[in-house]
Amino acid sequence: MRAFLRLLLALLALLALPSPAAAKPRVVATVPSLAAVARDVAGEDAEVSALVLPTQDPHWVDARPNLALELSRADLLLVVGLDLEVGWLPNLQTGSRNAAIQRGGKGYLDVSQFVNLREAPTAPVDRSQGDIHPGGNPHFLHDPRSVEAIAYGIARKLGELDPDHAAAYLTRAQTLAVTLARKIPEWEARLAPLRGMKLVAYHKSWPYAEAWLGFEIVEYVEPKPGIPPNPAHVAQVLGAMRRHGVPAIIEEAYYSDATVEQISERTGAKILRIPGGVHFVEGETYVEHMEEFVGLLAQLVPGGAP
Ligand SMILES: [Zn+2]
Repeated sequence: MRAFLRLLLALLALLALPSPAAAKPRVVATVPSLAAVARDVAGEDAEVSALVLPTQDPHWVDARPNLALELSRADLLLVVGLDLEVGWLPNLQTGSRNAAIQRGGKGYLDVSQFVNLREAPTAPVDRSQGDIHPGGNPHFLHDPRSVEAIAYGIARKLGELDPDHAAAYLTRAQTLAVTLARKIPEWEARLAPLRGMKLVAYHKSWPYAEAWLGFEIVEYVEPKPGIPPNPAHVAQVLGAMRRHGVPAIIEEAYYSDATVEQISERTGAKILRIPGGVHFVEGETYVEHMEEFVGLLAQLVPGGAP
């Protein structure tokens, strides 16, 4: 009996200890590439999840209740910003009843503030004008040069929420920055033959990659970002492709528009499907994703094997 009591007391003592796992901050990122950067920064000190899969278009996400549940438990919400998530995230934030992760809350971080934006508006615009990039182009995660500042921004924010691990978050951000500084010139060298190449893309998600790698998107299959193609616009795209001898159409894998296949058939241009983001759930890192991204784009190098 005494032995049993000792065991019971020992068990109770164990239960009374704060569980280290429960103390970890929970980070929820909207898109998987952002979650992957956050996971590199968080290491073992925070839990990270993503609301969107790389197979889902991040502009239009089905706001299922389980996503609100995930947000209700979050200590930090990471968003791309620039209205990328405005069509689906605000309702989930409200539904989560979590004050910290509302816009302006201490657990809300819009990472677009760390990026040198492209296509920032010079005059007031809104989505009613038929463009889903009213605040500037949100597809900056296609340019790895934008990621260092984002990683440090996440590290500082996590350090505020979890001061005990502030130094560890900064160290991990620095490790990612060092890796990127080594990889980026390698990727640039591999894709140098793409400079000046004229391409067509489905959606206007490439301005940052264009600026980084020097290729040029001469037409988009969407007449405006978020607006599906129409015959008159497709005729214009076909004309531009013939004029410039465009060898390929690039699109994120979450666009599987039949129009792109028709254009490919009519022009002989190949279709290059790029993953819509890091395969975060499978454990892929941002750097691994960029290796794949660069490997796919390398298929466009004239005469180069994939
Ligand atoms: Zn977009």
